[in-house]
Amino acid sequence: MNTIQSLIRDVPDFPKPGILFKDITPLLQDAAAGREVVAAFKAYAQKLNIDAVVGIESRGFMFGYALALELNVPFIPVRKSGKLPYQTIGVEYALEYGTAKIEMHVDALKPGMRVLVHDDLLATGGTAAAAAQLIEMQQAKVEAFTFVVELDFLKGRDPLKAFSNEVYSLVRYAD
Ligand code: AMP
Repeated sequence: MNTIQSLIRDVPDFPKPGILFKDITPLLQDAAAGREVVAAFKAYAQKLNIDAVVGIESRGFMFGYALALELNVPFIPVRKSGKLPYQTIGVEYALEYGTAKIEMHVDALKPGMRVLVHDDLLATGGTAAAAAQLIEMQQAKVEAFTFVVELDFLKGRDPLKAFSNEVYSLVRYAD
């Protein structure tokens, strides 16, 4: 995964001072590396009998949808409040300052479905845990989480444990 790591660009102080933003757009420009990413997720997910992939807005859509196509299962977008056109269910969750709300279409999942949650990056885990809550609200089951990047020092795996211990990240940063 060295090539993948070399295609993740550090952008200091974005979107605000003190944040080191991990930019995956160089990776999106490299088709061969992108295929490697999708193949790695596919190899991981294949043994889990996944029925649907939930991708988190917006950078979770790219590899999330590609993975769903590879697994031949539905792709379900989770979006920020007010963006999805049909009837939705929502979950509010805490951010560093204030709260955020994410939503999913009310008819997106069927009870008992085995779901994989995908996003580009795992930081504190708040967003992925909120997406997992949306899945459980529909009586579906969270089987696994996948991320391109994980920031280990933010301990994002901790809030995910309540849903699944299957967490797979391609590139991990210890600090
Ligand atoms: P969290 O809920 O703290 O795990 O944050 C995850 C969400 O915020 C993901 O959708 C990421 O795309 C985004 N995010 C958080 N921190 C970063 C970072 N350092 N670089 C890029 N994206 C980030």
